[in-house]
Amino acid sequence: MEFEHPIAGPAREAFAAGWAVSGGPLTYRVHTACIVAVQTAIEHADAPRVLEVTVDLGRLEGMWALLFTRREEQQAVHTRTVSDVWRPLIDRDALAAAVDAVRRDAGLSEARRTLGGLAASALAAARTLLRALADLTGWTALRTAVRNAIAAGRAEGMVNAVAIAAERLGTAGVRLDWDIAFQHAYRSLERLDELWAEADTWLARMLDGAATDLGRVLAGAAEDGASREEMIDAAMDVLASDDAAAVAFTVDWAMTTAADDGALELYRSEGVQRVDIITAGDGRVCETCTGFEAGSPWSSLDVPRLPTHPVCRCCYAADVSLSHFAAWFT
Ligand SMILES: [Zn+2]
Repeated sequence: MEFEHPIAGPAREAFAAGWAVSGGPLTYRVHTACIVAVQTAIEHADAPRVLEVTVDLGRLEGMWALLFTRREEQQAVHTRTVSDVWRPLIDRDALAAAVDAVRRDAGLSEARRTLGGLAASALAAARTLLRALADLTGWTALRTAVRNAIAAGRAEGMVNAVAIAAERLGTAGVRLDWDIAFQHAYRSLERLDELWAEADTWLARMLDGAATDLGRVLAGAAEDGASREEMIDAAMDVLASDDAAAVAFTVDWAMTTAADDGALELYRSEGVQRVDIITAGDGRVCETCTGFEAGSPWSSLDVPRLPTHPVCRCCYAADVSLSHFAAWFT
């Protein structure tokens, strides 16, 4: 029979109670954190308040689980929305014209082709094609979808900043209503013109990424002696599939940047002087982020900008008075 320390059961219940208060999902990470928390409670079984500390740990883990799950869900929704308006912009006839241009260049004799000439001509054809998208009627819908994704990222970042601050304060008895907070934050951004400018910046990056991807595919196909139809299919596949890399990658990065901007701006507007950087601890943390965490707290004026790389999930954290956000709590 396996021996279990007498505090193990109560500690598990304490962690679960804290997690339940957070309203967060039961993720694999929460489960792992529970095992660690119970082990810690056993090691400090004689310490006063050991179960209260375990409750706090459960609530903290639940908060992070909720934060990351919400971000993932929102990114999935907006990636889909942006893809849905992006795909119709990719026209098979326009792709055929780009393919023909590349095939013409590929047909030139080796002597007349400069080194890397095929890659350069494929990239040029891809750029011409993608630049023309901005003149299509569907472009406005794409721009709006990207702007909305950035607004959602920004709003969620503000909510996250308050959630983290509330967790640091250990607000007993009140609970952040994430959805109400998000709606408030989102509405506060309605008239923010800079979101349109940001949307244009991210759209330019999306086109750049798509041109690079398309150029590479066209050059590779031409090099391999693919037929015209095969090249058009490959081009359609890289640009207009459900999960076109340039779209998914850009939306993810734009929304993460927006979330970090939203958090930092909220902290600054609340007069915060010192900001911590917390790494996501999800196995994808790079050395840069680890260094930024170790260098915390930072002055809010010269805190490094997050994200430091694509798919960076690290966050700002600071102490903030919650008095301005009373409407977000129930
Ligand atoms: Zn990071």
